[in-house]
Amino acid sequence: MEGRVADWIRPEIRALSAYHVQDASGLIKLDAMENPYTWPEDLRREWLERLHSLDVNRYPDPQARKLAQELRSAMQVPPRDMALLLGNGSDEIIQMLALAVSAPGRSILSVEPGFVMYRMIATWCGMDYVGVPLREDDFSLDMPALLQAIREHQPALVFLAFPNNPTGNLFAEADMLAVLEAAPCLVVVDEAYAPFAESSFMSRLGQHDNLLVMRTVSKLGLAGLRLGLLAGPSAWLEEIDKVRMPYNINVLTQATARFALKHHQALDEQTAAIRRDRQVLFEALQAMDGMVPYPSQANFILVRTPAGKAVPLFEALLKDGVLVKKLHGSHPLLEDCLRITVGRPEENARLLEITRRFVDHG
Ligand SMILES: *Cc1c(COP(=O)(O)O)cnc(C)c1O
Repeated sequence: MEGRVADWIRPEIRALSAYHVQDASGLIKLDAMENPYTWPEDLRREWLERLHSLDVNRYPDPQARKLAQELRSAMQVPPRDMALLLGNGSDEIIQMLALAVSAPGRSILSVEPGFVMYRMIATWCGMDYVGVPLREDDFSLDMPALLQAIREHQPALVFLAFPNNPTGNLFAEADMLAVLEAAPCLVVVDEAYAPFAESSFMSRLGQHDNLLVMRTVSKLGLAGLRLGLLAGPSAWLEEIDKVRMPYNINVLTQATARFALKHHQALDEQTAAIRRDRQVLFEALQAMDGMVPYPSQANFILVRTPAGKAVPLFEALLKDGVLVKKLHGSHPLLEDCLRITVGRPEENARLLEITRRFVDHG
């Protein structure tokens, strides 16, 4: 059988390792940028009543029209000629974008370290991937290198995460605008962390005919629903919509997302708490000998440990029940780095306690 597998599964797929998610049962989960808060009991009850009235024997609204309209106002999508496309998570939207432009020899361009799905999906779709390194000191865009790579590779898609994952910073807006000018193709600004950031490109839609803005409800507290959205000029989105699976947003997701948007105040309070606790966590890490946290506009903090200490600290945390993301070894610029999602205050306190003990006693 192996021979036949090797004959038919494309070599670039065989070379991939499947997206690995560490088992987190029983652990304090600070690895995946989830909102750590559940809903208050009265809200849960009202939600269940809403679900009670759904008919799952019927297909969902294929366009999710009501949800789309409510997302439009919740995410402040500018009205003029701007369309909206929904995906089963923004991961599915990245895949739709790639499917719509892929052809032999075409490439997706992004920055490194960056969101791993851009590269993975390029490979799935038979495209090349160009990753331009960020600047080493502050993870800002290396503009000469980026503009040179755009000139040289003439990519079919550019992705820039704003703020960037896993570094947490916003790129300079002037640099982003220069990329929009220079790119021959669509530039997708991935604003997965918008609820935690001070800046957005949403209001710039329509000012550049190659700008699209992507959002998700995952990081704001609805990761389990799998719902992302893409906003931009309808001329582009009408084409991309043609590679969308019919009924990609299921009945439960449509109803639950609409319910959550109606009660957005609960989520707003949670994201505000996370932003405040991010500052507390940052200052506590900064006060520890040899630990270098990077300023973040997202719901996580990238931290550099003293040389050779990231893996032992990761293991010390795990042994005491706290799961963070080990980035050491994943990219040269992330040497000795861990990524810590901001959790509930008591979870952050536990993380800090273990880390402090580790820093003090090795
Ligand atoms: C988490 C993340 C996403 C994925 O969002 P989903 O909607 O959950 O698929 C997209 N982009 C970036 C940069 C992310 O960090």
